[in-house]
Amino acid sequence: MIYGKPKEECGVFGIISPKPIAAVPLSASALMALQHRGEESAGIATFVDGVLKCKKGMGLVSDVFTSDYLEFAASSKIAVGHVRYSTTGSCNIRNAQPIETVHSKISLALAHNGNLTNSARIRHELVQSGMVLHTTNDTEILNILIVRNMIETNDLERAVVKAMNFVEGAFSLVIATKDKLIAVRDRNGFKPLCMGKLGDATVFASESCALDALGATFVRDVRPGEVVSCDLKGNTTAYMLDNAAKSGLCVFEFVYFARPDSVIDGISVYDARVEMGRCLYRQKPTEADFVCGVPDSGLQAAQGYSMESGIPMAPAFVKNKYVGRSFILPDQVARENAVNIKLNPIKSSVAGKRIILIDDSIVRSTTSTRIIKMLRRAGAKEVHMRISSPPFKYECYFGTDIDDRDKLVANHYDVDGICKKIGADSLEYLSLENLCSISPSTRFCTGCFTGDYPAQVEPTLKNSFDDELRNKG
Ligand code: AMP
Repeated sequence: MIYGKPKEECGVFGIISPKPIAAVPLSASALMALQHRGEESAGIATFVDGVLKCKKGMGLVSDVFTSDYLEFAASSKIAVGHVRYSTTGSCNIRNAQPIETVHSKISLALAHNGNLTNSARIRHELVQSGMVLHTTNDTEILNILIVRNMIETNDLERAVVKAMNFVEGAFSLVIATKDKLIAVRDRNGFKPLCMGKLGDATVFASESCALDALGATFVRDVRPGEVVSCDLKGNTTAYMLDNAAKSGLCVFEFVYFARPDSVIDGISVYDARVEMGRCLYRQKPTEADFVCGVPDSGLQAAQGYSMESGIPMAPAFVKNKYVGRSFILPDQVARENAVNIKLNPIKSSVAGKRIILIDDSIVRSTTSTRIIKMLRRAGAKEVHMRISSPPFKYECYFGTDIDDRDKLVANHYDVDGICKKIGADSLEYLSLENLCSISPSTRFCTGCFTGDYPAQVEPTLKNSFDDELRNKG
């Protein structure tokens, strides 16, 4: 975890082709385009002559999939891949995905983005019935439910629909069997999942930027509550889960998670961020010499602010592109120093200037405090902090791992208090109304800002979050 920030979620990819293709190398390329969704582990599963093969490892896609392995797995017809940040289940190789299950009835590999909200109860029931589970993540139970329903129905699609009707929460999934690829999106469509075509092959990805990376054409988004099954002849069949709600797309995808070159459910992430910046200016017009975004998460909102205000954009920092993941550094001191290695203010640009500084969110306030201090040291006259989302206050049960609600600065201070704490001359958060105006026809999940969630959360899950907080004191 980087400086105790909430972790991102995961990225999934799937491909099926009537003819043998480089399914594994293509998956590796797609996962690289989804790397921002998870840096802890990467994995790809494929079927070679009907036999399930899977390679997973800790680290980046390029660490796990070396050229040797890609050559070895050069030709197959089906593959699914995953990049992970741990949400449910700790960070270790056992919890890396795809999760494979080999059973006489069906062999499958499944990759999951999201968090199930009734998995603890299902897990408990499975364990009580004598089932041995191999991971601590919530995804393994999906494999088990599919196999159980397969034994009962002998029909893969029915088994998947039945299993998915049993689980609750957030799940964008790709499932590979020896002759099918199935994509599933939960009833609320919390997490993105889109479908594309690459020649005769059908592909699914968490974000459209992965389709672009392969040169695939975007076909459509998988609908909330939809199960799309593709076979080796190129046939595609769609099914619906019970009670599809059609609302609940995670608004934080647009604030921070997704890549700006992705389009999710018809909304361009780039356009949405530019609009957030425009709204920030309209909300509180402020005079300044230039606008700058915190690299990279604040850049598009800064652009929008500049367009709306007419205040020029200028860089205040240089970002060292060779600095990798801060969490691999051995201790806290090294991690603290990493900020200085990663970002350095450009003194001649900053000295004597009134600056509008834009970032996407304040979680614990570590980043903004440090960055504002850097700008002051470099001689900035005024620093006006603008945040392209509302105060971050609540846990997310659907896939973002907020490790401790008590550490969220907005639960301890009001806006003026946070402004003082981070050392800014002024602070403005984007209002919820303006955030949601990025797509008036979409009903987003805004739970991390409001505490209101579009789907029920089992009291046991809520309690376990609360217990965790109490235990931490
Ligand atoms: P903090 O320093 O704790 O206030 O965290 C705020 C910074 O973390 C901002 O610069 C965000 O871009 C970044 N951030 C927000 N959400 C996440 C997340 N889920 N994972 C990693 N970084 C994040």
